[in-house]
Amino acid sequence: MSEDPKDWELATRLVRGGAMRSPFGETAEALYLTQSFVYESAESADARFKGEAPGFVYSRYANPTVKMFEDRLALLEGAEACRATASGMAAVHLALTGLLKAGDHVVAGKALFGSCRWILATWAPRFGVEATFVEASDPAAWRAAVRPNTRLFFIESPANPLLEITDIAAVSALAREIGAKVVVDNVFATPIFQKPLTLGADVVVYSATKHIDGQGRVLGGAVLGETTLLDEAYKDFIRHTGPALSPFNAWVLLNGLVTLDLRVRAQTTTAAALADRLAAHAKVRACRYPGRADHPQHEVARRQMTGGGNQMLGGSNLIAFDLGTQAAAFNFLNALSLVDISNNLGDARSMATHPTTTTHRSMTDEQRLEIGLTPGWVRLSVGLEGAADLARDLDRALDKA
Ligand SMILES: *Cc1c(COP(=O)(O)O)cnc(C)c1O
Repeated sequence: MSEDPKDWELATRLVRGGAMRSPFGETAEALYLTQSFVYESAESADARFKGEAPGFVYSRYANPTVKMFEDRLALLEGAEACRATASGMAAVHLALTGLLKAGDHVVAGKALFGSCRWILATWAPRFGVEATFVEASDPAAWRAAVRPNTRLFFIESPANPLLEITDIAAVSALAREIGAKVVVDNVFATPIFQKPLTLGADVVVYSATKHIDGQGRVLGGAVLGETTLLDEAYKDFIRHTGPALSPFNAWVLLNGLVTLDLRVRAQTTTAAALADRLAAHAKVRACRYPGRADHPQHEVARRQMTGGGNQMLGGSNLIAFDLGTQAAAFNFLNALSLVDISNNLGDARSMATHPTTTTHRSMTDEQRLEIGLTPGWVRLSVGLEGAADLARDLDRALDKA
């Protein structure tokens, strides 16, 4: 009797979802490093190109290993469909431009991953698309920014780097009211803790480079949503512009998904404990962690960061904290011995970065002030190391801060 993978528990979806065995009966999923495919006859090529027969035609359109990754991620997200891309930014670019045309207006949070902000603030205007950046934690600010031509809301929650939370259900309700679409960059929350589609969003985007790989190896991205929407908005765009994910990277990411839930939960358990420890330290002026009751949008986080019935352990593995000055932040970073100084996140190795001089360098001082990012802030991505080892490393570095 064949089972419907949609009925499987999360753990089973992550191990088995999307797997397609070849006639060789391999146990591990095969890596199909092939650009194109051959046909039994001219008629079968004709039928496949017409879309009347199943099968692959070219790896820019689709590839079996990439499809396994897409299907597994769709099962995890609870989405009808998924399209994988070469990087998270290819996914964000696809997600936005596939839904927009000249004359459209976008509303987005002020605090965004730097390249997402660049697409909306710098690139999109060249094609006649304007964006307004709002205080994302305030639902009224999203409404106030609406214009007659507003077609899309772009949400990143928790946002980089200070982990503000946007009420995804409230913004999605507003979008439905005015006939706009909602795209959520769900990287910081991870597909384990937040399910934007169930909160009313239309499209979810991931940088698979982060937690989905989780071991610092390959770039990748994905957009997820309803099949009809993905077909209409993105299918031709993908075919003709080529943001395709490499089968090799898809294979790595497919295996990353197997352990995603275990890793993210373990990292988050450690992060929640470290956030409390940091918050209590005399040298830490403020500690931002969605799982802590003193986070400004803690109640919203509690409501929406429990995807798939998961108990909220804290709000993912990212913590931001303020050491007062850039000098203190630099002293802290330089005194770390276990935690790496790196702008990456979601890795099994813990990493800390100074957003003002790295990820948020291209913003002006004024723009950084608008999102509360002063030079004392450090962003920490908690890895899979032992919690006591990490606590000791942070304590020692704080002494030097
Ligand atoms: C890393 C990241 C991206 C971009 O992903 P890449 O895989 O590096 O292209 C987009 N959004 C967020 C929130 C990210 O953290």
